[in-house]
Amino acid sequence: MSDLDLLISNINLASMSDATAGHSLADYGSMTHTSIGIKEGKIHRLYPPGSTLPTATTHIDGNGGWLTPGLIDCHSHLVWGGNRAREFEWRLQGISYEEISRRGGGIASTVKATRDASDNELKAAAQQRLTTLMAEGVTCLEIKSGYGLSLEHEARLLRIARELGNENPLTVQTTLLAAHALPPEFSDKDSYIDEICENIIPKIAALKLADAVDVFCEGIGFSTAQCQRVFDVAKEHALAIKGHVEQLSDLKGALLVANNAGLSADHIEYLQAEDVPALKGAGTVAVLLPGAFYALKEQQLPPIAALREHRVPMAVATDLNPGTSPQASLRLAMNQACVLFGLTPQESLAGVTRDAAKALGLGHCKGQLAVGFDADMVLWDIGHPSELSYGVNLCQPREVFYLGQKR
Ligand SMILES: [Zn+2]
Repeated sequence: MSDLDLLISNINLASMSDATAGHSLADYGSMTHTSIGIKEGKIHRLYPPGSTLPTATTHIDGNGGWLTPGLIDCHSHLVWGGNRAREFEWRLQGISYEEISRRGGGIASTVKATRDASDNELKAAAQQRLTTLMAEGVTCLEIKSGYGLSLEHEARLLRIARELGNENPLTVQTTLLAAHALPPEFSDKDSYIDEICENIIPKIAALKLADAVDVFCEGIGFSTAQCQRVFDVAKEHALAIKGHVEQLSDLKGALLVANNAGLSADHIEYLQAEDVPALKGAGTVAVLLPGAFYALKEQQLPPIAALREHRVPMAVATDLNPGTSPQASLRLAMNQACVLFGLTPQESLAGVTRDAAKALGLGHCKGQLAVGFDADMVLWDIGHPSELSYGVNLCQPREVFYLGQKR
C-alpha cells in the first residue's frame, strides 16, 4: 500500500498561495527543486529539497519543470449559436452600429442563431471551444447563459453547460445571465425584469441549473435599480451574485455588487478609484477582461493602481463570446492583461489561478498549490513562470492534472 496516489518530484512550484497575495512583485510563491504529494484528489504534502520521499502509486519525474495550479477561466459565455464574422467585417468598413443592427447584427443576431440551433449543434460548437481552453491548461471554467433570454432557452444553455462539465474532466460552474439584453418578445425592460424575478430565477434555482446570477448593468443593458431587483431574488434562492459593470460608463454597478456581497465585479474599466475600497470591504473580486477591451478598441483603463493599493484580488478571464471577445484563449488574456492593463506576469498568473478561484467562490479549495487544496495542476517545461504571460502559445502544458473534486 503506497503512502500517496501521486508523487511529482524534481519540480519547481509556482504555488500562487495566499501568502503571496497582494505582493505584486513577489516570487509566485515559488519553491525550487521540490516534490509534491497527492492523496485522494488533494495536495497532501510539499517536500523541500533533500526530503526522504514516501512511496506513491504513480511517481512522475518533473525533470526540473514548473508546476502551477490549474488555470481557471472565471468569465465566459461559452455556449452560443452562429458567429458574428460578417458583423466584424462591417464594423471594419466603418458601418454604424445602427446599420449593423438593421442588417440583423449585434446581440439580437446571436440570440436568434442560438434559439434556432439544436442542442447538439450548440453543444458540439461549445465542446470545440472548451477543448481549446483545456489544451492551454484550463481545469475550471465558468459558463454563463445569456443568449436564450427566455426560461426555456436560458435553461437549455445552462443544461448544456452542466452536461459539458459532466462529460469533461474539468470543473464547470454555471451562471444565469438572463439580464443580458432585452429579448424580442418584450418592449419594456421593467416587464422583462418582472419575468426574470418572478419566473426565470425561481425555476432555474429549482432545477439547480445555476451556481450564480449575473447582470449587464449598463445604459444599453439594465439600470442599477433593475439589477438590484434581480440580486434580491437571487439572494432569496441562495444564488451567488456577479455583475458586468462599469464597462462603458460609470453607473456605480460595482458598488451595487459590493453592497450585495457579490463574488465579482467584471470589466470595471470605468470604476472610479474612490469606489475601490468598497470592493475590498465586501470581498468582491475585480475581474479584468482585456479581450473585450482589445476587440472594442476601448481607451479607458481599469484603475489597476487603486486595486493594487487596496489589495483587491484581480482575476483575469477570457469573456469568451461571439460579439465583443471572440477569443478561446486564456493564455492570450494573460498576455493582454500585461500588455494592455500593465499587470505583472505574476499578477496575471494569480489572476487565472488564486484570484479566479475567489471570483467563483472556490478560493478555499482551488487556485493554489497548498496543502488541502484540490490537485488541479499543470506541469510546464519552462524556465520561469513569466513565460506563461510572455508571448502567446510559445509553450504548452506537458501534462494537465484534473485530480481535484468537481465543484
Ligand atoms: Zn461577459
